[in-house]
Amino acid sequence: MHIPFALPLIDQPVIDEVMDCLTNTGWLTSGPKVRALEAEVAALTGAPALCVNSWTSGAMLMLRWFGIGPGDEVIVPAYTYSATALCAMNIGARVVMVDVGADFCIDPDAVRRAITPRTKAIIPVDLGGWPCDYDALMAVAGEPAAKALFRPAGERQEKLGRVLVLADAAHSIGASCKGRPCGQLADATVFSMHSVKNVTTGEGGAVCLHLPEPFDMAAELQFLRYFALNGQTKSAFEKNQAGGWRYDIVAQGLKVNMPDICAAIGLAQIRRYQAELLPERKAIFEQYNRAFGAFGWAILPPYDDGRRVSSAHLYPLRLRGFSEQQRDGLIQFLSERGVGANVHYIPMPMLSLFRGLGYRMADYPVSYGLYVNELSLPIYNGLTEEMVGVVVETVEQAVEQEAR
Ligand SMILES: *Cc1c(COP(=O)(O)O)cnc(C)c1O
Repeated sequence: MHIPFALPLIDQPVIDEVMDCLTNTGWLTSGPKVRALEAEVAALTGAPALCVNSWTSGAMLMLRWFGIGPGDEVIVPAYTYSATALCAMNIGARVVMVDVGADFCIDPDAVRRAITPRTKAIIPVDLGGWPCDYDALMAVAGEPAAKALFRPAGERQEKLGRVLVLADAAHSIGASCKGRPCGQLADATVFSMHSVKNVTTGEGGAVCLHLPEPFDMAAELQFLRYFALNGQTKSAFEKNQAGGWRYDIVAQGLKVNMPDICAAIGLAQIRRYQAELLPERKAIFEQYNRAFGAFGWAILPPYDDGRRVSSAHLYPLRLRGFSEQQRDGLIQFLSERGVGANVHYIPMPMLSLFRGLGYRMADYPVSYGLYVNELSLPIYNGLTEEMVGVVVETVEQAVEQEAR
């Protein structure tokens, strides 16, 4: 049996929605499908939403929108996918990496120690769909000591009055903390709709706003809509309406809008997400937990602590006492038997680009400890109970073989 690590959900409802875009609306770029997807994201998160063409461009958009750029510092965890850092580097800001805690999430105390007068944003990552401790992070950003150091990057940040907390929620659509959905846990939240994510548009993402008083969220969202379209006050769709040709360019924006043809794919998924697709993912996560919970060598990933609830994006199992080499051997064993596995993540300081910039792995001991014995197992809609059973059995065999 071949069990790939990840597969996007392309079933009849997805095909029907894409066909509707092609044959009925006849509109390919941002239009009715994008608006409908935004409405679904807003309904799911309880926060106003704007769709963009990737998480990375959404994060760049938000940093730029807050006036962040050269000379500014952005704090990110060392343990994440590189886009978390690259979005800041690509707008000219300097990335300050800090270590994570045992639950894979950025350590709020490490964030506190890293804040300087140059710090303009913190990008916590909800790793595998497990929300960070936003209560603690928002408290750190609002502490008198942090506020005393704070220098705003621009007018909008002056209004915020503190460091921006921008959630990397690439994995965590549908996750929550104390019953509040991800999207309302930070000042702004960016979701990814890349092909391997819980809800996909092929490539894409969505930004949700949750700004405190005195921000007018409707006005901010309207401006952000222009800002994601070259600063243009009308989309091609709006210009296509009778008499709607005249437009203005009101800001030096980016061009990161989502096409309707992509939105159609995500729309067909997100409509079923809460009632069907997310519970299916959780059932897989729980099946793994039940199976691996019986083994002393298994460290189960964070899932539900009564306060935070994961969106079960990854199943990041850890193997107690395993070395990096043994873990790699396990992945090889699985791959030879047709079971896809992965590692989330190689900490950024181990990658050439970041090593070359002077980041040192020795400064992030917790991240390193998580990395060496982490093993991500398949988890996606369409993975059957039987397939999960095969994955569990194969991992068991691999561990026995390694232990010999
Ligand atoms: C996938 C991912 C991103 C980047 O998402 P894109 O939509 O591909 O830009 C960022 N952060 C994390 C943690 C991710 O897994």
